[in-house]
Amino acid sequence: MTQLQQHTDLEALATQAGRDLEDAPALDILRWAADTFGPRFCVTSSMEDAVVAHLASRVFPGVDVVFLDTGYHFPETIGTRDAVAAVMDVNVITLTPRQTVAEQDAEHGPKLHDRNPDLCCALRKVQPLEEGLKEYDAWATGLRRDESPTRANTPVVSWDNKRQKVKISPIARWTQADVDTYVAEQGVLTNPLLMDGYPSVGCAPCTRRVLEGEDARSGRWAGSNKTECGLHG
Ligand code: SF4
Repeated sequence: MTQLQQHTDLEALATQAGRDLEDAPALDILRWAADTFGPRFCVTSSMEDAVVAHLASRVFPGVDVVFLDTGYHFPETIGTRDAVAAVMDVNVITLTPRQTVAEQDAEHGPKLHDRNPDLCCALRKVQPLEEGLKEYDAWATGLRRDESPTRANTPVVSWDNKRQKVKISPIARWTQADVDTYVAEQGVLTNPLLMDGYPSVGCAPCTRRVLEGEDARSGRWAGSNKTECGLHG
């Protein structure tokens, strides 16, 4: 099959699945992904919680769970990653940027995240993810429509034209209450920062606690117009 044929087939597959699976339970969506793509399917996780990784491991034991280590994570996030790798039936793969933080500081100056967060995210998140995803035809995320207005239209399955992959958000329709119930019932690992005022956990320099009444992602790049890192834009 040529690259063009593969692209056309995958895009058509994603479009059809987006229609067929819109109302399907998360496990059924992930079962479809596992059956369709096998080892060319992965879950990406920010290690805020391991809900999607847990769901995926139930239908695809040993599934690849891709984590981006930007070099700026809270220790609690790295600890969650290590705990997931130790206790869950998944294969955690850690992606790292081409440059260490020290190398980036030397080239671009210190605290690039304060001066040019778009460039910092491009170098430390977007580029490594794009390189890491070359191994796969489909990737799953933990995006949910109720997280913020910018995510209100998140499709369950869609064509990620930028990366030429099928993008799957099996819990797009879940509410925070659904997540809390699943975590409690299944004993899923979560980042301790979730219980410490951080309902959304990103890199330490760009994440603050959220105030009462604010949406879950309002603590990310607070004080700037930036709302997404570029992984989902
Ligand atoms: Fe850099 Fe902040 Fe983006 Fe992390 S979230 S990659 S520290 S700008």
